[in-house]
Amino acid sequence: MSRRADSRSVRSPGASAPGLRRAVTRSTDSEETTMQADEMQVHQENRHDHRRLGRELDLFDTDPLMGAGLPYWLPDGAAVRHALEEYVRGVERRAGYQHVYSPVLGKRELYEISGHWSHYSEDMFPPMDLGAEQVVLRPSLCPHHALIYRSRSHSYRELPLRMAELGGMYRSELSGVLGGLTRVRAIQLNDAHIFCTLDQVAEEARSALELIRRAYADLGIRPSLFRLSLPGPGGKYVAAPEMWRRATALLTEVLDGAGVEYRAVEGEAAFYGPKIDVQITDGAGREATLSTVQVDFHQPEQFDLHYIGPDGAKHRPVMVHRSIIGSVERAVAHLIETHGGAFPAWLAPVQLEVLPVSDDELPAAAELLDRCLDLGLRARLAAPEQGTLGARVRAARLVPYQAVIGPREAAVGHVSLRLRDGHRPPPLPTLDALARITAQVEARSSEL
Ligand SMILES: [Zn+2]
Repeated sequence: MSRRADSRSVRSPGASAPGLRRAVTRSTDSEETTMQADEMQVHQENRHDHRRLGRELDLFDTDPLMGAGLPYWLPDGAAVRHALEEYVRGVERRAGYQHVYSPVLGKRELYEISGHWSHYSEDMFPPMDLGAEQVVLRPSLCPHHALIYRSRSHSYRELPLRMAELGGMYRSELSGVLGGLTRVRAIQLNDAHIFCTLDQVAEEARSALELIRRAYADLGIRPSLFRLSLPGPGGKYVAAPEMWRRATALLTEVLDGAGVEYRAVEGEAAFYGPKIDVQITDGAGREATLSTVQVDFHQPEQFDLHYIGPDGAKHRPVMVHRSIIGSVERAVAHLIETHGGAFPAWLAPVQLEVLPVSDDELPAAAELLDRCLDLGLRARLAAPEQGTLGARVRAARLVPYQAVIGPREAAVGHVSLRLRDGHRPPPLPTLDALARITAQVEARSSEL
């Protein structure tokens, strides 16, 4: 991932006609600070502001003692995050990725070699002195993955080698720009690096873009722009014109082949190479990068990576950096706003609310709850002591399925389902109802 992966363009909310939209690329911290007041106002007008919903729905919060830009996840938010992370890992496993874990700290020398120290240090936390050495909170996962690749010898037969990790990284943002889950100092990144031959780069980048498009369909996310992010004047870019030309040609080929409309924008590249960025727009009209595909000839050189070719000689691999959902924080923020808290059943913190009409149905309700938990469904029981049936139904209005159990249902082992969309099928045998719900959840259906 690059320093620019989280850079954002802001569209003036006042100019709604497409031709009149003013695109402002934010490039410095001071610009971002001066746009704060404007941004706050826009957020307050946004009914689906993820910060407001996050608090109201008990998804996440912050504490001044933990610090600004360091949100914590409450149980319901953690359930959404867990479902999303498992989804991404599953997609990656099926696409031939292997998962690793690597530490969030690294020695300063590691980032000097990768180029982060000279190109990116203003976004890094200051190094910590440990005796004779200095360690830093990592600003990206790439150098760790390059070292993991380098730790074993590789034959051309192993390529493309796809290494993935949902791992922590850190960004020293100014406290004035921090907020919610979109501007944070601790980031959990859905990252991967594909080590491959030059001939394999275009196909790997194409497949990565395809994974992103499929994930967006599953998650209900609509991309607002595919962007070819190129270097601009004055940026701190690695100087290697031939390398930039080749990488840009490859990504252009991928975008043209994918048949998507895209816009080439200067000044948005990573310091080591150009990238494809998939942009999203929030409810207030502000644009951000969620997903990215990057071609990198630089870090394989820096880390002296190689593979043994069919000729028995050493060859240099290329690194494709890609992220399907970007940072988990930004992805969840966007999902909260996109769905207004009414998540698809497979992502919902609580998928089924069990509602006994009176205390007499409590044993049947408890039994249903146990069955749900055994099936891996996230279910919750709202007992009559919590209020009238109407009040409990209203309190659970964002839950995809409600299972009402009255005396008639309890007597014959049935439930009356109430779907979030208002649909109320006739009472069903409990097992049939659960089979229906489980099928929808496993299919990751957007329907209930
Ligand atoms: Zn990377």
